[in-house]
Amino acid sequence: MDEFDLAVIGSGPGGYVAAIRAAQLGLKTVCIDKNSALGGTCLNIGCVPSKTLLHSTELFWKLLHEGKELGIEGEKLIFDFPALMKRKESVVKGFNEGIYALFKKNQIQVRTAHATLLSSNSIQVGEEKIAAKNILLATGSEPIALPFLPFDEKQILSSTGALALDKIPKKLIVIGAGIIGVELGSVYQRLGAQVTFVEFMERICPTLDDSLSKGLYESLMKQGLVFHFSSKAVSCERSGGEIKLTVEKGEQKFVLSGDTVLVSIGRRPYTDQLGLERVGIKPTEKGFIPVDGCFRTTQPNIFAIGDLIDGPMLAHKASEEGVAVAEILAGMKPRIEYLAIPSVVYTYPEVASVGMTEAEAKNFGLNILSGLFPSKFNTRARCTHEEEGFVKMLADKEKGRILGVHILGAHASELIALGALALQNHLTALDLAHTPFAHPTLSESLKEAALALHQRAIHK
Ligand SMILES: Cc1cc2nc3c(=O)[nH]c(=O)nc-3n(C[C@H](O)[C@H](O)[C@H](O)COP(=O)(O)OP(=O)(O)OC[C@H]3O[C@@H](n4cnc5c(N)ncnc54)[C@H](O)[C@@H]3O)c2cc1C
Repeated sequence: MDEFDLAVIGSGPGGYVAAIRAAQLGLKTVCIDKNSALGGTCLNIGCVPSKTLLHSTELFWKLLHEGKELGIEGEKLIFDFPALMKRKESVVKGFNEGIYALFKKNQIQVRTAHATLLSSNSIQVGEEKIAAKNILLATGSEPIALPFLPFDEKQILSSTGALALDKIPKKLIVIGAGIIGVELGSVYQRLGAQVTFVEFMERICPTLDDSLSKGLYESLMKQGLVFHFSSKAVSCERSGGEIKLTVEKGEQKFVLSGDTVLVSIGRRPYTDQLGLERVGIKPTEKGFIPVDGCFRTTQPNIFAIGDLIDGPMLAHKASEEGVAVAEILAGMKPRIEYLAIPSVVYTYPEVASVGMTEAEAKNFGLNILSGLFPSKFNTRARCTHEEEGFVKMLADKEKGRILGVHILGAHASELIALGALALQNHLTALDLAHTPFAHPTLSESLKEAALALHQRAIHK
């Protein structure tokens, strides 16, 4: 039986990154995944395919709706959907192969089979038994279905099915206006589908700062997406190709019809046949694995990270935790600043956020300053015709330390790195305001928001 210092179960952004860091630190490491396409949800059915579809459809949508303004006109713009899907597959495949190459370079062994814990030191991997001094559980999450709408991935879709359609729906109903719902809804709306959302809460992406939810809602509505808030899908009838969804909104009931439904109501930790009971690890009611500050489960040599544990279900959060576990095993003392973990919605305009929302800061009883800079005053945004949106910055009143950065606008996903850097390093708004930024760039809006926080904005 092979014996390892660390056996990682799951090759998503949590598991594969942990395996690489562990190998860098000299640990004999194996990574086990039931899927031969390494990379987990993020690479195969999450971040990477969704951002590939979002990019092409955004370009198409912009040329269709803004081309004339930008001086670009042509005979007829055609979208080749099969070509896009083919490109998406090749992007994913390229990275699948990339992870194998990284594993080879770092001398990490790979096993392709379902892993089940036999004891705190041994794992059944297909026909093989593996011994490990330490085990890292990084088995991720799966989409939640509605009891009356089981996924068939043809007409009733999870995000996985929505990323692999062979034709564009005509009328798509999306249940859940969270991040994944609005991203995938945007993809198909840009390609001509009529997209209607049913959302239980009273706003889009309810964990975002109010200003971002409101701004994103207004932009998406202008693009033609339709939203029913404070509404609940309660039953469904199917006849032929048609789906009739009954929706409750307070005392009212109404029916939405469509040819396709995307159920995007959240994800839950995935621990099927992992053998947790055999090692005495008991998931919480919601299925998360409880861990201590060092990601240790109730078994001191078994760790858990990523979507499997509490916290935002984000690829980069999983990776940070994976690195931390490897470093803890090597005797180091890593620290993750959770407040500095950004979150992005890759719609058009994009939304990106890091740190506290205004409501959270107020709930904590903090005395805050808020600075706002609208993108329409940013030179680069005017040049590129991307004036929609703003940067909002929050800081504590006493020291001016940045507490949150909230961006609606083009390339917000890239700009938010500055906010993350500020939060990670406890910078003040004036630290940012006094930093030279290249002109003309969208990043100047962050500098201006930092100045606005002290009533010193130059361009508004
Ligand atoms: C449509 C969509 C879009 C997303 N977009 C983004 C985004 O833009 N940015 C972002 O940060 N996050 C995004 N996410 C979330 C992100 O994908 C997850 O947070 C991330 O993949 C979690 O990583 P993980 O390593 O915890 O688990 P996963 O990536 O879920 O990996 C778990 C792996 O474990 C394997 N596995 C499970 N059980 C076993 C077992 N018993 N034996 C062997 N192998 C097993 C699985 O096959 C899988 O490969 C998106 C998710 C979806 C669905």
